[in-house]
Amino acid sequence: KKYLVGLTGGIGSGKTTVANGFLTHGITLVDADIVAREVVEPGSPGLEQIRTHFGNSVINGDGTLNRGLLREIVFANPQHREWLNNLLHPMIRTRMLELVEKANSPYVILIAPLLFENGLDRLVNRTLVVDISPEKQIARTMARDKVSETQVNNIIASQMSREDRLAKADDIIDNNGDVAGIEDKVAELHSLYMTLSQSQ
Ligand code: ATP
Repeated sequence: KKYLVGLTGGIGSGKTTVANGFLTHGITLVDADIVAREVVEPGSPGLEQIRTHFGNSVINGDGTLNRGLLREIVFANPQHREWLNNLLHPMIRTRMLELVEKANSPYVILIAPLLFENGLDRLVNRTLVVDISPEKQIARTMARDKVSETQVNNIIASQMSREDRLAKADDIIDNNGDVAGIEDKVAELHSLYMTLSQSQ
């Protein structure tokens, strides 16, 4: 079994930025958001099951999933939400673990914004949290996504609190400084994970 590190953090905390640091050390990244899109891509068995359950209206003319409509349907109906989660979560897990085992690097980084919220921490050997102050988190997300402070605050409120996330972390990267400032910490964690992966 491949040694697996779960990388998480709130919106705009710097997960992608930190993950790219591990990439420069030759480590394979598996991104939960990308896998979640892949399992419902046009023509996929996942999308066909959604079509059968919810009807053709949840499929756009070009064959892609109408995410907005599906979100409205499951938001209004907990039973529909549960059905969808029961369909997608096992498919996403299976595919992620497939990609992990296929990887050629000594360990793998699993990037998952909702690592703890979705119980994906149970799949990993170790968790790494990217930490950032709420002020910087709001400023960086507003600048990147061109959204309002209120919109960012709503997303932050829907995620696990900073405090709870930090309490669950095995390792923490402080991303309040500049990007160059995380390089040393990434290198230090990389050598730790190399050791842990060899001695497991
Ligand atoms: P999300 O979960 O929303 O996709 P994320 O956690 O992957 O976000 P990033 O996309 O890595 O976060 O970072 C958010 C924004 O902040 C990006 O525009 C990124 O370039 C910028 N950023 C990340 N780290 C730093 C830093 N240390 N200093 C300045 N800007 C940064």
